[in-house]
Amino acid sequence: MPAQLTPNLWYAQSEFFHTNSGIFLSDGQALLIDPCMRPEEIDALGGWVAAQGAVPRWLVLTHSHWDHILGPERLRGVRTLAQAEYPAAVARDREGIQDQVAEWEARLGRRREAPFAPPLPDETFVDDYALSLGGLSLRLLHVPGHAPDQLAAYEPAGGCLWASDILSDLEIPFVSHDLGAYERTLARLETLRLDVLVPGHGHPTTEPAEIRVRLDEDRAYLAELRERVTRAVTQGLGPAEAVALCADMAYRRRGENAEPHKLNVESAYLALGGQGDARELGWR
Ligand SMILES: [Zn+2]
Repeated sequence: MPAQLTPNLWYAQSEFFHTNSGIFLSDGQALLIDPCMRPEEIDALGGWVAAQGAVPRWLVLTHSHWDHILGPERLRGVRTLAQAEYPAAVARDREGIQDQVAEWEARLGRRREAPFAPPLPDETFVDDYALSLGGLSLRLLHVPGHAPDQLAAYEPAGGCLWASDILSDLEIPFVSHDLGAYERTLARLETLRLDVLVPGHGHPTTEPAEIRVRLDEDRAYLAELRERVTRAVTQGLGPAEAVALCADMAYRRRGENAEPHKLNVESAYLALGGQGDARELGWR
């Protein structure tokens, strides 16, 4: 059952990966964000919207990673919205997405007749898209860095940000797209009034001070990542030595995030001019 966070926003957390699904409701209209993950969970979200007497007007896909795009095939007929890079990202990684879905579903004992078909959006936007839902004004913002097509949903009146896969309390920044883009994204979010934050994975917060801490920590992490990896490249160190040079950096939940941190270092190493095999190093 979704939990209410603000007068207009509810969220539900999947039993998998602390993945959050969102529902903005206003005047009998609903906008769903990343409804996921198991079929039963997705159906329950659709049923909950109907039980509120609301019409699902939009389904927003925050980015094309497999764990965020399982909803549309079960919520047919709802107009889907994504950022303009989404179709190209899906085209590039279609097989990877299908393999990841198949692998996860196999663990649940589920087998499809045909491979998962990544949904394509009915509508896209480039940078900043304003929409009204009943009496509510919302903006969709392009926030790349984790994924080239990632968006965040922002409700200015409530200072409420659906951040997608950034600003998690469980994860460090997963810089699986581009370090510079990620830095610019956090700088942009810092200009917004933020009173409520929901990450794609992890715990929502309604404490502005807690949001401030997450933003500061993630910006500091990226700055230090850039500084140390630049030093490694300048000194002519190899990728393994760059990883060693970044081993004692501070970041949250070190045990669980050790592997993403290593991948961040390797990807930054290649992006900042280090020599190595992009098929073997970093996020792929
Ligand atoms: Zn993601």
